[in-house]
Amino acid sequence: MNLEKELTELLGKPIEKADRKELYAAVLKLVKAKIAERPLTQGNKKLYYISAEFLTGKQLGKNLINLGIYSEMDELLAKHGQSLSDVEASEPEPSLGNGGLGRLAACFLDSIATLDMPGDGVGLRYHFGLFKQEFKDHKQFEVPDEWLSEPGVLEKTDVSFPVRFGDLIVHSRMYNLDVIGYNGGHNQLHLFDLDTVDESIVKDGIDFDKKDVEKNLTLFLYPDDSDDDGRKLRVYQQYFMVSNAAQYIIKEQKDLGHDLHHMGDYVAIQINDTHPSMVIPELIRLLIHEGIIFSEAAGIVSDVCAYTNHTILAEALEKWPSSYLNEVVPQLMPIIGGLDWGVVCAYNNNNDLNIIDKDGRVHMAKIDMHYGHSINGVAALHTEILKNQELRPFYNIYPEKFNNKTNGITFRRFIMHSNPQLADYIDTLIGSSWRTNADSLKDLLQFYNDEAVLNRIDEIKRDNKVRASKFVEQKEGVSLDPDSIFDVQVKRMHEYKRQQMNALWVIYEYLRIKNGEKPQRPITVLFGGKAAPAYYQAKAVIHLILCLEELINNDPDVSPYLKVVMLKNYNVAKAEVIIPAADISEQISLASKEASGTGNMKFMLNGAVTLGTADGANVEIGNLVGHQNIYTFGRSSDEVIGLYNTSGYKSIDYYNNSQSIKHCVDFITGPELLAIGDEKLLGDLKDNLMHKDWFMTLLDLEDYCRVKETMLYDYEDRAKWKRMELVNIAKSGFFSSDRTIREYNRDIWHLK
Ligand SMILES: *Cc1c(COP(=O)(O)O)cnc(C)c1O
Repeated sequence: MNLEKELTELLGKPIEKADRKELYAAVLKLVKAKIAERPLTQGNKKLYYISAEFLTGKQLGKNLINLGIYSEMDELLAKHGQSLSDVEASEPEPSLGNGGLGRLAACFLDSIATLDMPGDGVGLRYHFGLFKQEFKDHKQFEVPDEWLSEPGVLEKTDVSFPVRFGDLIVHSRMYNLDVIGYNGGHNQLHLFDLDTVDESIVKDGIDFDKKDVEKNLTLFLYPDDSDDDGRKLRVYQQYFMVSNAAQYIIKEQKDLGHDLHHMGDYVAIQINDTHPSMVIPELIRLLIHEGIIFSEAAGIVSDVCAYTNHTILAEALEKWPSSYLNEVVPQLMPIIGGLDWGVVCAYNNNNDLNIIDKDGRVHMAKIDMHYGHSINGVAALHTEILKNQELRPFYNIYPEKFNNKTNGITFRRFIMHSNPQLADYIDTLIGSSWRTNADSLKDLLQFYNDEAVLNRIDEIKRDNKVRASKFVEQKEGVSLDPDSIFDVQVKRMHEYKRQQMNALWVIYEYLRIKNGEKPQRPITVLFGGKAAPAYYQAKAVIHLILCLEELINNDPDVSPYLKVVMLKNYNVAKAEVIIPAADISEQISLASKEASGTGNMKFMLNGAVTLGTADGANVEIGNLVGHQNIYTFGRSSDEVIGLYNTSGYKSIDYYNNSQSIKHCVDFITGPELLAIGDEKLLGDLKDNLMHKDWFMTLLDLEDYCRVKETMLYDYEDRAKWKRMELVNIAKSGFFSSDRTIREYNRDIWHLK
């Protein structure tokens, strides 16, 4: 049966007569039917990727691509006066993640299926996700992200497991999201929920009664943890996630007739950051129930479990007070106590290594490191820092467990779907094998001196800038100039990512323009990102950026040369429009603080040139493209680590010793911005920069401004810039998540 007939039948009316919603529902149904025709991927051994987040992005377009019918559907709808991208726009984006860690999990699922490995994701079905970001009075406000509309991408199942929280036993429900690979492979993402969760208890933004677990358990990802009840709710969520995961895995293995004593032969579990760490004691507990003794159970679980570390920021290494665990999951404490006791005995009661510290807090990562068989960082530099600094005591006792897996991104979404013009043009140059063998993008280097090719790639960049400008105009009401330089920083708002440094550059540039020093070409500075609801400083930075946007875009002296836009509610759909339009990729974290970054890879793949510190995967980008094709600045990670160790950084000295830093920082509370913004917020932001500046913004600010200026200057050497675009695209193959997944499998999972 042909697509046209199938779709018309599902619609029950001619395609041209259907509205967008009807079309979305019908195309979704058609896609689900096609997916159902693909058998689930099977193998001797199966991976379970457990993660608190899966930032999947919209599913329809990606699924059409992976089914190999995107173009056919696109043409079919066009023939009937409809538009596939309009239909795609009516899909709500699943709100199941927060930032890079969740997006990585989604890219991995895509690659695992594409490589035809059996591997499912396991997580939670958050009703309102993280939150939806809105702006009012130049400030962030949080509201529930209502993405669970019908018809949806999730399939409700009858699979349910009992989960015990002390005296309370709840019964879960599993939902499935199909994950199909590009030209093959079919796995699933299992998301657990409770039928009793009550969306109506959410009031006044994202507030709700944190004590009523049966009603609130899966309302939000990362509920506010600034009080005891909020922190306990996170423990409830984590245990609910891993208990379901463990019960599901054991059930599947028993159904397959596998001997649980040999689970290591059949099962690999990847623990994505510390949120799923309790899966280790929970699996041990369940294996004991199956009649296996503690020591053997611990050994089996160790063969199965591997841990990925995503950050060295102390705040992210979770430690739960024993009192919480005793209250929420009393059945787990004897197991955790036993695991701790094993460590105490083996390593002489060493507080660096003990799972339960002297204050009675349980260090979740330490469970993973002692009782998993692999510990990996997510970029070469990050893994070295783990080995030599942060996790050194563990590296000393378990050197064989440590390994690096530099992150990657799925090219199906971040070029084939998001930048189809470039993807198709690459096909005409080097054939289409790069779509599954990303390394062959290197073949593009033969066009290094081919003016026609360079011009065409740059024209596509301009088309993407036109597309992004329309999008921004429609969503944010700001009109952009596609002939300006698009300078983009989109990522979660965090002081270590240093959006404040970029904002200080904006002030610097504004002051120069006011002073009559106009840039050679207009510059558009795009920001986007959410701040955690309780993160005051990050919200203050958003406030500064929104105030600058108001000031600059409405100043007739300045706005022809400089524009600032803070996109609201940055998510995967927005990333897919904005990143292909970028000229400059801002990756300016304080060296040593960004574990890897994956945004940096998406920009590179789409021909943007990186302006970055020697941090995370920026280092590997630099090694691949060579120093002529990247702009680096700022102190090295060694220097930064040295400054922390000696408390050798005093931001006030940098403020006092540089007129230009002083001018920019003072501007934050100058009359122009105070006329727009909030005196307290702006004042606190400025104070923080002058007297604390934990992430050393002022340390790197001058170097940043200098290198950015060079970069803007170099943009006018159009031939040079276009060659940089080409080299960045050509060398980005290494960052395909297919490569990353092959490495995980080769070194950790050993599937097939
Ligand atoms: C890729 C991605 C991120 C991660 O960006 P970084 O720059 O690596 O922090 C965050 N959010 C979304 C929506 C993304 O697509």
